[in-house]
Amino acid sequence: MTTSSTSSSGTDTGPESVPFVTQATVVLPAWLTDDAARYRGVYPTSEDRMAVAVEVARRNVDERTGGPFGAVIVELESGRLVSVGVNRVIEQNAAFAHAEMLAFLMAGRAVENFDLGADDLPAMQLVTSAEPCAMCLGTIPWSGVRSVICGARDADIRDIGFDEGAKPRDWIAKLNARGIAVEVDVLREDAIAVLQQYAASGSIIYNSRGSSA
Ligand SMILES: [Zn+2]
Repeated sequence: MTTSSTSSSGTDTGPESVPFVTQATVVLPAWLTDDAARYRGVYPTSEDRMAVAVEVARRNVDERTGGPFGAVIVELESGRLVSVGVNRVIEQNAAFAHAEMLAFLMAGRAVENFDLGADDLPAMQLVTSAEPCAMCLGTIPWSGVRSVICGARDADIRDIGFDEGAKPRDWIAKLNARGIAVEVDVLREDAIAVLQQYAASGSIIYNSRGSSA
């Protein structure tokens, strides 16, 4: 690559050039593509739905394709699965690539609508193996889902060293105030087991650098 000297920096210690990237593709693990038929289907109960989110989180750890987090979007009433996401931050060099964010992204593409709460769509639910972080919490109202189910708690995530970011303590009430129902502690122990499996594997624990408390 030819580099042009446009830097005003007085030192020359960094990389000479990095590409100016204008396009990026987010890719879920190959095993998820291969086994799509296994995950597609109808999941009637909260536990049924969470079992899928926890299973993909565990598989993501087993296959070493990302962090110990999984999420699915389902149609709230029927339980029909719309999309799946797993954590891909490190593998995709993408800070935002949390399981919930990728589930939102894939759901939007699936229904061809940025708003999962659109009038012509069935009400949608986010099912996440662990409580949403500050980013994912912020995205939940934008996404249009009407309901959220969580497995592991914030404290369980922090126990293995991850940081949830700056998140209001009353986040459930804040979502409720926007008409979004929240159910917590669904298959919590199973979700915790995946977190602990990841921690025991010696894989990278990254955080948001925010808290010195
Ligand atoms: Zn998140």
